[in-house]
Amino acid sequence: MAAINPHLLARTTTYIFPLIQETLQKLLKEQPGIDVINLGIGDISLPLVTEIKEGLAAGAEEMTKRPIGYGPAEGLKELREAILEKEYPSFGFSNKELFISCGINEDLNLLQELFSPASSVIIPSPNYPLYQELSTLSGRATTLLPLEERTAFIPHPPKERHDLAYLCSPSNPTGVAMTYKDLERWIKWAHEHKAVIFFDAAYRAFITSKEVPKTIYEIDGAKEVAIECSSFSKSAGFTGLRLGFSLLPKELVTQTTPATCPLYALYQVLKDIKTNGISYPVQIAGLSALSGEGAKKASLQVATYLAQAKRVRECLLTLGFTCYGGIDSPYIWWKVPSGSSWDFYSYLLHKHHILTIPGEGFGKSGQGFVRLSLFISPEVCTKLLSRLQTKVKAEHAL
Ligand code: PLP
Repeated sequence: MAAINPHLLARTTTYIFPLIQETLQKLLKEQPGIDVINLGIGDISLPLVTEIKEGLAAGAEEMTKRPIGYGPAEGLKELREAILEKEYPSFGFSNKELFISCGINEDLNLLQELFSPASSVIIPSPNYPLYQELSTLSGRATTLLPLEERTAFIPHPPKERHDLAYLCSPSNPTGVAMTYKDLERWIKWAHEHKAVIFFDAAYRAFITSKEVPKTIYEIDGAKEVAIECSSFSKSAGFTGLRLGFSLLPKELVTQTTPATCPLYALYQVLKDIKTNGISYPVQIAGLSALSGEGAKKASLQVATYLAQAKRVRECLLTLGFTCYGGIDSPYIWWKVPSGSSWDFYSYLLHKHHILTIPGEGFGKSGQGFVRLSLFISPEVCTKLLSRLQTKVKAEHAL
C-alpha cells in the first residue's frame, strides 16, 4: 500500500500565501473593476532590468551555438566566483563553499536534509512560513520561539539546547533586522549547544543601518555554526527567473561530520544526487545582475522599494499608528488599532481596497499585526499614501 507521508497529513496550518491570493481573486470576481492596492504576497512589481534580460538572452543565444546541457549541480564556477567577489569580498571563501540554487526555498529544502530527522529545531515566530513547514514535514521536533513587541520582535536565543535554528534578518514578516549584538548572542548560543543556524538573508540588499550586519559571517565564530542562504529574487527581481545560493563554510562541521567529508562536501553529494543543475541562461542573467549597469539598475529598484517602505512607515507613524520594520526592509509590521489582525485585514481590504496579510498567517504570535509589502511601483505607492492620509485617517482619528 502506498501510504502518504504522515507529516503531510498531520499538518494543521493553512499556507497563507495561496489563501490570500484566493481571497483576492474572489473579491475581484465579485466586484470587477475595483482598484485593489496589493501589499500582500511580497512579490516584486518593477519590470526586469534590461541588462539582466540581455544576459538571459545571451545565455539562450549561446545555447543555439553550442550544446549546453546539464550544468554542474553546484552552479557555474564564474557565477560562484562573481558572487563571492561582489558580495563576500573579504571573507576568504573559496568557490567550493558556495552553491548556486533555484532560490532559497528549494535550497533550504535540500539543506535541512543534511541533518538527522532526530534533530530538534527552534524557529522564532512569527516567521517565514516555509521554515515551520519544512521542519514539520520532515517530522522533526519543532519548538517555536514567540517574539514579542516588548523586545521589538528581535529573537533572543533560548536557554535550552536545540540542534537547528532558523533565523531571518531582515525579517519577513516583521521587517526588523538583527544588529551585530543580537547575532553575536545567537552565534555564542550555537557554539555552546553545538547547533547549526540556517541564516536566511533574502533581504540583505535592503540593509542600510550601520549596526546591522549584511551577512552573518561578519560575526566572529559564525563560519563554524552558520549556513547562509540568499537569492537574487528580491535583490534583482528574479522571483520569476529563480536563482539563489548558499554558503557552507569549510569550518562548519558537526560532531557527526565524517573527518574525510566536511559538511560542504556532503552538500555537494546531496546536490549531485537531488538536482540536475540550474538553468544556464538564468545563471548568465545572474552574472549581468552582479556588475555594470545591470547591478546599478537592480540596486536602484531595491532603493525604490526601500524609500517607499520608509515613506509609508513615516505616514503610519504620523497618523498615530504603531509599526515596525520599513527601515532595512521592504516590509512593515503594522499594529492593528483594535480587534484581531483578521478583522483589520478584512476591514482594509473590503473598506479601503488595501490587501495586506494578517499577522497570524505567519504564526500565532503574529496576532495583533498585519504585514505590508512595499514591493510596489511608485504610482501605486502614491495612491496608497493618499488612501492612508484621507480615508484611513478619517476613520482612525487617533
Ligand atoms: N526567505 C524569505 C524570508 C522570503 O521572504 C522569501 C520570499 O518571499 C524566500 C525566502 C524565498 O526566496 P526565493 O525566491 O529565493 O525562493
